[in-house]
Amino acid sequence: MRTPLLAGNWKMYKTTGEARELVEGLLHGLGDVSDRKVLVCPPFTALHTVRDLVQGTPIALGAQDVYIEPQGAFTGAISPVMLRDLGCTYVIVGHSERRAIFGEGDDLIGKKVRAALTHDLTPILCVGETKPQRDAGEAETIVVAQVRAALAGMTPDQIARIVIAYEPVWAIGTGDTATPADAQAMHATIRQTLGELAGIDVAAAINILYGGSVKPDNIDDLMAQPDIDGALVGGASLKADSFLRIVHFLPTQG
Ligand code: PEP
Repeated sequence: MRTPLLAGNWKMYKTTGEARELVEGLLHGLGDVSDRKVLVCPPFTALHTVRDLVQGTPIALGAQDVYIEPQGAFTGAISPVMLRDLGCTYVIVGHSERRAIFGEGDDLIGKKVRAALTHDLTPILCVGETKPQRDAGEAETIVVAQVRAALAGMTPDQIARIVIAYEPVWAIGTGDTATPADAQAMHATIRQTLGELAGIDVAAAINILYGGSVKPDNIDDLMAQPDIDGALVGGASLKADSFLRIVHFLPTQG
């Protein structure tokens, strides 16, 4: 019922030439992906190049962030209208690097989710706890609060169009992955929260991705979990062979 989504977040990597090389490698080895969705999120500067390469292929295009207004005097910002114009269908919102480095809070992140939906972009809402929060036993409280804050006041129809990415901050770029059991437990909690906000049927249909040092050697065990519906992949999405292995995950019996 939920089609797995494998998404690459390229962060601030890849010039246009490097982006071209990576996408050509992905297309070369992609094969049959009719039972899953594949997405790449290059930096803004490479969106145009990547768009031209992925058009008409199974690879979808997303951006890594968006501002909340369609246009205006917002120096340095990129609008949802501009992203649609470049062929994007997804946008990452609330990534922990945006929260921690650029000071984005739940209020702005909620507005970004709405702006994306208004312009027919699927927001991938990132949530996750820090290591001290997990060690203090607060992980679930923090993550549930982030989900509730970003989706406050939204209708079930709006919530149905969102993807969530659970990304424990301590697992991002560290090589330290949540165990499949811990990730599953948090995904189940997130789905329960979505059920409280939008009803069980909507919650059951929403893709909840795991992110945080997803690699070729752990993707199969993660994807075997019942509430893990895909992955948001940073470092391992920067090379065609490792991202392709993740895209071609083989679920094991969980
Ligand atoms: C990310 O950027 O969202 C991420 C999960 O990075 P990494 O896979 O490198 O931990």
